[in-house]
Amino acid sequence: MAQKLVVGNWKLNGSLAANDALLGGCVALVGVDMAVCVPFPYLAQVGSCLTGMALGAQTVSEFQSGAYTGEVSAEMLAEVGCRYVIVGHSERRTLFGENNVTVGRKTVAALRAGLVPIVCVGESLAEREAGQVMEVIGRQLDAVRECIGVQGLSRTVIAYEPVWAIGTGRAASADEAQEVHAGIRRWLAEHGAPAEEIRILYGGSVKADNAEALFAMPDVDGGLIGGASLVARDFMAICQAAMANGGG
Ligand code: PEP
Repeated sequence: MAQKLVVGNWKLNGSLAANDALLGGCVALVGVDMAVCVPFPYLAQVGSCLTGMALGAQTVSEFQSGAYTGEVSAEMLAEVGCRYVIVGHSERRTLFGENNVTVGRKTVAALRAGLVPIVCVGESLAEREAGQVMEVIGRQLDAVRECIGVQGLSRTVIAYEPVWAIGTGRAASADEAQEVHAGIRRWLAEHGAPAEEIRILYGGSVKADNAEALFAMPDVDGGLIGGASLVARDFMAICQAAMANGGG
């Protein structure tokens, strides 16, 4: 596996001044791939001052152009310098009505524009307690595979984000994460995808003090970081933990 990838998801946070201050405390590290996914209005600002770090967005329209007020196309994101776009984040699924079908379409749109979609999958607490983790994730992945095929899957990054761990301070343990990541990799292999080449990130309450253990797991290829990516020192500590465990 290539070196690890750490992606900050700023969510609905930031201002011109706050972004400058945050990025002023972040430096690209050799041996780990780093990216930040920022709100649309700040893509130009952040893109202009990133060196050695990639730019990304947090969602994308399934449509390319036309009468879709408020939407932002993948082509627009590519044109302003994005490399990544998050699709299917659980907050988009639960708060904004996205489902497996729309996530599949958005993944198609991202690939069409040459972006790398970071496809989020993960179970709720009730689904975990019912023993349905891989069943739920298999359905989420299947919907994407039906839209982009195995070839398309090989151009994605998968993010395992258990819903119960996002923004709660309760991260999956390293062993819990590893078990699901191995399951996702198995699923990819069983469906004919180049499983060893597809990065599988873990997201959900990753902090400076648990990153090391998570990134030491053989199937954890990096992290999708929410809250901790808003504090330069914490984000850098997480990136350093990824660097120290590079090479997957
Ligand atoms: C996320 O929003 O993708 C996320 C993982 O958030 P947090 O790190 O804050 O749990």
